[in-house]
Amino acid sequence: MHPTKAYAAPAVHAPLTPFSFERRDVGPHDVLIDIKFCGVCHSDLHQVRDEWGGAQFPLVPGHEIVGIIREVGAHVTKFQVGQPAGVGCMVDSCRECESCREGLEQYCEPGFTGTYGAPDKVSGGLTMGGYSNQIVVNEDFVLRIAEGQPLERVAPLLCAGITTYSPLRQWNVQPGQKVGVIGLGGLGHMAVKIAAAMGAEVTVLSTSPGKEADAKELGAHKFIVTKDPAALKEVRSYFDLIINTVSAPIDLNQYLQLLRRDGTMVLLGVPPEAPQIQIFNLIGGRRRLAGSLIGGIAETQEMLDFCAEHGILSDVEVIPMADINEAYERMLKGDVKYRFSIDLATL
Ligand code: NAP
Ligand code: ZN
Ligand code: ZN
Repeated sequence: MHPTKAYAAPAVHAPLTPFSFERRDVGPHDVLIDIKFCGVCHSDLHQVRDEWGGAQFPLVPGHEIVGIIREVGAHVTKFQVGQPAGVGCMVDSCRECESCREGLEQYCEPGFTGTYGAPDKVSGGLTMGGYSNQIVVNEDFVLRIAEGQPLERVAPLLCAGITTYSPLRQWNVQPGQKVGVIGLGGLGHMAVKIAAAMGAEVTVLSTSPGKEADAKELGAHKFIVTKDPAALKEVRSYFDLIINTVSAPIDLNQYLQLLRRDGTMVLLGVPPEAPQIQIFNLIGGRRRLAGSLIGGIAETQEMLDFCAEHGILSDVEVIPMADINEAYERMLKGDVKYRFSIDLATL
C-alpha cells in the first residue's frame, strides 16, 4: 500500500482540509504516477457542494491529473517509469458493453468508474482524485503526454480539453464554420483554442465585458456581451454549432435563436436546475439541442496529440494546495484566467 497525502472535503459544504489515505499496491496492469499538477474543474466545486446530489464524503476531488510515472506493474506494456502521463475523469469501465467496445467508455452502460467519489471496484471504498500526491490507475485509463511540455498547462486538457474537443469532432466542425462558445471559463477557453485550430470562425458569448481582449488572444474572431440584446440580435440564426459551457442556470431560449437552420447547441455545463425550453425555438429552424460528456480514452489521446501538434495548452494560474478553498470562491466569481492548476509539490 502507498500512504498518500491529499486534500479532502470531509462533508458537504465543508472547506477542504489535509487528509491522508492509502493507494492500492501496483497490480500487474497498474501504473503509479507521482502527481505534479491537477487542474481545478467546476465539476469539483459542484460535487464538493453536492449540487448534483449523491456526492459521498470524504471527497478528494481532481480529475485533470498529470505527473511522472514512478512504477509500472509487471504486465504493463504501454508505459515506462519516468515518462509523463495523465489521468482524466475515468479510471475504469465495464469494458464489455457496446459503448466500451466502441471506445466510448464515458457512456459505459453499467457506468464508468469516476476518478473520484465513485465506488472503487478494485480496493473497495471510494475512488480518490488528483488533489493528492500520487495515484494508481490501470494502464488502459492512463494517457500519454508528449515529453517536454509544461505539465501545469497540460493538466486541464484531461477534462476541459477533451470535454470541448469531443463535441467539436462529433459535430464535425469544418474550416469556416461558425462556432459560438457560451462562457469563457475553463471549458470555454479550451473550446475557443481547439475550435480555432480546427479552422472555425469562433465567437465568444460572455457575461464579462472585461474578457474581450483575452478572448481574441485565445483565438476568437468575435466577442459578444450577452447582456446586450442588440449585440445578440446581430448573430440571430448565425451559428452552425454552439458549445454551452455555463455552470449556472441561464435562459437557453435566447441562445437557441442564434442557431441557423439545422444548427446544434451542445450542453456541457451542468447547473443543478432544469432548463425551460420554448419548443418554437427548436422547431423553427429544425434546430437541435444536444449534450456531451467528456470523451473516451482513445479520443482523449487523440485530443492530447492534436493539442501537442497545434501548440495548444491551457492558460493557467498555478496555486498551492492550501489555496483551494479561495480558488473555489474565485471560480464562482469568474475570477480565473482560465484554469487553476494545483502544484502538488506544495501538498
Ligand atoms: P468555469 O471555469 O467556472 O466557467 C464557467 C463560465 O460560465 C464562467 O467563466 C462564466 O463565463 C460563465 N458563467 C458563470 N456563471 C454564469 C452565470 N450566472 N450566467 C452566465 N454565465 C455564467 O467552469 P468550467 O470548469 O469551465 O465548467 C463549466 C461547466 O461544465 C460546469 O457546470 C461543469 O460541471 C461542467 N462540466 C461538464 C463536463 C461534461 O462532460 N459535460 C465536463 C467538465 C465540466 P463568462 O464570464 O464568459 O460569462
Ligand atoms: Zn471536469
Ligand atoms: Zn461499459
